[in-house]
Amino acid sequence: MTRVDLTAISKSFGSVKALDGIDLTVEDGENVAILGPSGSGKSTLLRVIAGLEEPDAGDVAFDGVSQSGIPPHKRDAAIVFQHFALYPHLSSLENITLGLRHGLGLPKKEAEQRAHEIAGRMQVEHLLGRKPKEMSGGQRQRIALARALARRSGIVLLDEPLSGLDAQLHAVLRLEIASLLRSVGATGINVTHDQLDAMAMADRIAVIHEGRIEQLGTPDELYAVPGTLFVASFIGSPP
Ligand code: ADP
Ligand code: MG
Repeated sequence: MTRVDLTAISKSFGSVKALDGIDLTVEDGENVAILGPSGSGKSTLLRVIAGLEEPDAGDVAFDGVSQSGIPPHKRDAAIVFQHFALYPHLSSLENITLGLRHGLGLPKKEAEQRAHEIAGRMQVEHLLGRKPKEMSGGQRQRIALARALARRSGIVLLDEPLSGLDAQLHAVLRLEIASLLRSVGATGINVTHDQLDAMAMADRIAVIHEGRIEQLGTPDELYAVPGTLFVASFIGSPP
């Protein structure tokens, strides 16, 4: 478990201000959803936390230690990308162990032990020999999640982990991911444009709009007392 402190994070791409002064603390073991429409800066925020993108201003700290200048593979954060980003030519086992071996420097045997341990826990051991094209969307997403959790990072970053799944699988995985994050004790930051996902999965929700956090609160607080018209319309709108 690791606390995440974001302080005055800004990031522009040309004239587009993707992030505009983000302040947010996510406590040890907490699960926070970043909820906002397409283009509001959610992916950019996760990429900044993971170290895949340097902010123009502001600081990212894990347990009080600034991550400035620390490359992604040396940060205590694992990211699950929106479109899985599994290597198509590798099996699930290889997809999971690749980063453990080359990123974390684990020996092959230990990396494979970890892959089997997390796959067993997620009940996907039977998929370890398959390549992405031999699996369904839900299976691929479980492997992408297993790959992130196998790192045993204090922080797990999820970028729209449920997008592209059919409604039934979506509802199942929503609960599965939330309980898995709790059971491994990771701090979770979970990006979504779906208010029902945020409500179901998160301890607190940060509503983001045009690179700014409009409101931060528990699902109940946001639902009961939306702080702005944008929050009211976004939280209140039907799925
Ligand atoms: P979200 O994930 O909420 O849909 P993003 O963080 O992907 O939003 O994007 C926020 C804004 O920044 C958008 O206007 C997007 O077009 C822009 N943006 C994001 N990444 C880049 C990039 N690498 N180059 C140029 N513009 C970008
Ligand atoms: Mg995005």
